[in-house]
Parts: sequence; C-alpha cells; structure tokens
Amino acid sequence: MAPNQVVTIVGAGPAGIAAALTLAEYGVPAILIDEAEHIGGQYYKHFGVAPGSSRGRELDQLRQQGRERLTALERSPVEVRLGTTVWGFFEPNRLALVADDQVEVLEAPSVLIATGAIERVAAFPGWTLPGVMTAGAAQRVLSHDGVLPGRRFVLAGTGPLLLAIATQIVEAGGDVAAVVDCVGLTAPVRGLRHAQAVVGQPRRLRQWAEYRRALRRAGVPYFHDYTVVEARGEGELREVVIAGKDAEWNIRPETRQVLEADTLCVHFGFTASTELAQLAGCALAFARERGGWYVAHDDGMRASLPGFYVAGQVSGIGGADLAEATGALAGLTIAYDRGVISAEVYHRETRPLRRTIRQGRAFARMLNEVYTPPAAIARLVEPTTVLCRCEEVASSQVDQAVSAGVTTLNGLKRRTRCGMGFCQGRVCSQVLGSYLEHRYGVAPEEAGVFNARVPLKPVPLGALATIPDDET
Ligand SMILES: Cc1cc2nc3c(=O)[nH]c(=O)nc-3n(C[C@H](O)[C@H](O)[C@H](O)COP(=O)(O)OP(=O)(O)OC[C@H]3O[C@@H](n4cnc5c(N)ncnc54)[C@H](O)[C@@H]3O)c2cc1C
Repeated sequence: MAPNQVVTIVGAGPAGIAAALTLAEYGVPAILIDEAEHIGGQYYKHFGVAPGSSRGRELDQLRQQGRERLTALERSPVEVRLGTTVWGFFEPNRLALVADDQVEVLEAPSVLIATGAIERVAAFPGWTLPGVMTAGAAQRVLSHDGVLPGRRFVLAGTGPLLLAIATQIVEAGGDVAAVVDCVGLTAPVRGLRHAQAVVGQPRRLRQWAEYRRALRRAGVPYFHDYTVVEARGEGELREVVIAGKDAEWNIRPETRQVLEADTLCVHFGFTASTELAQLAGCALAFARERGGWYVAHDDGMRASLPGFYVAGQVSGIGGADLAEATGALAGLTIAYDRGVISAEVYHRETRPLRRTIRQGRAFARMLNEVYTPPAAIARLVEPTTVLCRCEEVASSQVDQAVSAGVTTLNGLKRRTRCGMGFCQGRVCSQVLGSYLEHRYGVAPEEAGVFNARVPLKPVPLGALATIPDDET
C-alpha cells in the first residue's frame, strides 16, 4: 500500500484517537470520523451545555483529559470529521457517510475500525417503562447536559461502570436509593485465579476502592448477589422490585424488596459494536473472556480483510487503557505495512504496547469472567416480557418461532421482526442470545449474530436523495 494513501479511522474514542496520533507521528495521512459532535468517544467526557460548571470530580477529570487529546489532534495534520455517521460500506472499499443531511461516498482503501461498544441490557418485566435507562445514558445526560435525568435512582446490574456511575450521580447531588449488584461477594474469590492480572492494575483497584468509599460515605445501600426483577409504574417508573438470587439466577422470594425510585439505571457490561466490520466482510470471533462477539484480528490488529484494522472495544471488551494501547499498536502496524517504518523500529516501538495489551487483556479476562452475566439471567423473562423493544416482540412470540424450528438470530429476525427496528438489533441481540441459550440450550456460536445491513444507522430520506447519480 502506498505510504501516502489516507487511512480512514471510524470512531474518535480513546482507540481511534491513539491510532490517529500515532499515524500523525509517522507522517501517515489520516481522517478521523465520528458521529458524535466531539472527540473522546464514551470515555473522555464532553460538556455540551454549561461547559464551565462542574459535574463532579471524576467527570471533570475525564473531560480535562479529553481536552488534552483534542489539543494534540488540533496540532496534528489529522483531518477530524465530527457529526459524521458511517452508515454503509460498498465494494470496492467505499464508505457511505452522512453529515448535515448530506450523503458522501468516500474512497477508503485503508480503514481502521474503532467503533467501540454499547451497553448490555437485560429483559425483565417493566424494563421498557419510561424512567428505565442504561447507566451510560444517565451518565451522558449528566456529563453532556449537566442535569440528572431523575431524582431518586436505583442502579442495577454488574461491572465496574455501574459503581463508577453510581458515584458520579452521588457526586452530582443525586439521591441513590440502592446499588443492586448481581455479582456476589464470593466473585473476587473466583477472580483470585487471575490474581496476577489484578496486581498489575493498581490504578483500577484504587479507583474501585474510592467508588466503594464514596458510596459508603453517602450512605448508599449496596446489595450483593441481588438483581432487579421488575420495574413498576403506570406510564412511568415508580417502584423497582429487587431480590437476592443464586449463581443460576434462581430468585430467593423471601428477599424481595420494593424500592421507590423514578429512575432505574441498568448496566450489564458491554458488547462490541461490530456492525461496520461485519458489513465490510471482516470475520468475527466469539470468546466470553472478550465479552462475547468481537472482530477477529492478528497480533498487529489487522482484521481478516486486507487493508482493514481494528482497535479498542470492538476488538474485545477491555476498557479505555487497553483501547488506547491497541489503537497505538494498530497505528504502528499500518505504518509498518506501508514501509514507513522498518521492522526494527516496529518491534522496538510495539514492545511496551504489547506488554500493556497483555496485562490489559488479562485484567479484562478476569472482569469479563466475573461480571458478564450468564445466560441464566434470562430467568427474569416472563411470557409477556418484551425481548425486542423496537419491534415489540414478546418472549412468547420467540417461543413460537423456536417451536417452528428457528434457532438463530437471523431466523428469528425473519420470523418475528426481532432486530429489524431502529437499533438494528444492537440492543436485543444480547437479550435474545441469552434467552435462546438459557431456555433452549442454543450455544452463542449457533445462534450467531444479526447480519449487518445498510443503513447501519438511521439516515434521513432527504439525505439519501443527495447521493450522487453515479453512486446510486
Ligand atoms: C455509554 C457508555 C459510557 C461509558 N462510560 C465510561 C466511563 O465513564 N469510564 C470508563 O472507563 N469507561 C466507560 N465506558 C467504556 C468505554 O467503552 C471504554 O472505556 C472506552 O471508551 C473504549 O474506547 P473505544 O475507542 O474502543 O470506544 P468508544 O469510546 O466507544 O468510541 C467509539 C466511537 O465510535 C463512534 N462510532 C461508532 N459507530 C460509528 C459510526 N457508524 N459512524 C461514526 N462514528 C461511529 C462512536 O460515536 C464513538 O465515539 C463507557 C461505555 C459506554 C458504551
């Protein structure tokens, strides 16, 4: 590949930014694209409204770090295109973009996919009620708009982000009625098998201890090995029912409690945003230790398709530090593949990154093992519980499809319209996967993933009308 050919990076989160800055360092031209109006992805926070006001210690810190990345990008020759959604990929090597209601088709012989992850949710009675949202959505309202999305919160689910966001809500003055963690106190013992991985992450451990202290100081009740079982209310959330459970998600009825709340934030970890990679034809792989499906890649972050690279959460769930290291590695690999740097420089520069990535993956393996909910979480589902909220498909309809012989996500899509709505299956694929596995013993590899289709994200019809004639 010619050294001066432009690299198109999709996703300006920690991974995409690190890749762009690395490419800039070696003089490889790059375009960095993101659908958001700001750089930083899900990690470096952006204050859209009242930018001068504090959102609490942690969000302020993340925002400051994001500003430092922005300054570095502004000083670099990288072309940054924000508010620009990649909604399609067409042979050979053309990306369809939309910005300001205008479609553009971009020649992209070399693409780095750093599209991140979305939060994993669970289906339970009442999960589609107004007032129930993902923890990340609540965090976004707080960091971007500077307001809390409710008055009295319950946070339920699993994983470090749940704890982080509970702390951020408390720091912003919110009333947190409870944190309901579906992982038990014995989980760290299971994690001890990964003791070395934990020891290598002092910053993350310190952070975890700080969150627990802050929540204790604020008097927030913390329930271990509990789960949300129902969200109740007429047209809006009023009550959250929680209960203790065992490892197989059998509810202990005597522990049921009803908590008053107007906002329930759920978060059950992450799932990689693989759609663009799938559309282009890059192979996926499945591993629970990577958080489920991710884009397969070699040890230089090359995807299976020539000219395609990946970095960050889309290459396996592992957090911001790992995302940055994989982004920098992908940038170096591209420079090396183009002959811009020698093998000697490549090996020297990638050695410390590979060490960071090894440690980061070991830590992520532990987190994914301890915190990714098992398929038995689908025990929360009742016959009338909606599994695909865009198309309002209840579990009983899925049961009918299965009794007619359907066992794959794409089969369910054809039979029930699951995954055909606004989110294109991003939300319901995990819910359906757990349901099929728990209720019918269908392994995730057999259930598969929803096929990716254009448009990957909603595109206004008026914008489609602007496609140049020679491209239609
Ligand atoms: C809602 C949410 C909140 C989070 N908050 C935190 C937090 O507070 N602390 C923490 O440690 N971790 C947080 N995380 C975890 C976070 O994913 C990682 O820590 C880190 O941001 C991963 O970096 P990344 O570059 O891989 O992906 P991201 O940071 O997710 O960046 C991916 C970028 O790709 C863009 N993108 C995706 N698809 C397209 C497309 N088709 N066209 C154009 N652009 C596209 C997205 O807009 C996004 O900016 C959060 C994750 C989510 C989903």
